[in-house]
Amino acid sequence: MLAVCVHCGNIKRTLSAGCVICHFQPHAAEDKAKAFILSTAYEIDGEYRGMTREQLTAIGTAIENGHPYAFDQTEVQSVIAYAKRVLAVPPRRLVIDGVRWLLPPLLILMVAYLLVFWTK
Ligand SMILES: [Zn+2]
Repeated sequence: MLAVCVHCGNIKRTLSAGCVICHFQPHAAEDKAKAFILSTAYEIDGEYRGMTREQLTAIGTAIENGHPYAFDQTEVQSVIAYAKRVLAVPPRRLVIDGVRWLLPPLLILMVAYLLVFWTK
């Protein structure tokens, strides 16, 4: 995990932690989205959209040298929209999805268990 501090360019190990150099911690949705884009956690719907570690390190150095990263506002807005969509998934749907995923392997385990049990 690698994340660039949007404020000072410092390389951090976690997204959520505040920056040890400038103490900047993203709170606003837009700042969080920007921090997310400048990290190796940048993944949407299971697809990696982020940059390489080398690119992120180079961006960090540029920010450190007084060249703020030029965010694509469309990209920032789409990350915010994605975060809202993920948070808007009702807990009930998550439970149903969970059962759908868990049921087949559980059934297989039950059948396997019963087969082993009956052969003894
Ligand atoms: Zn910082």
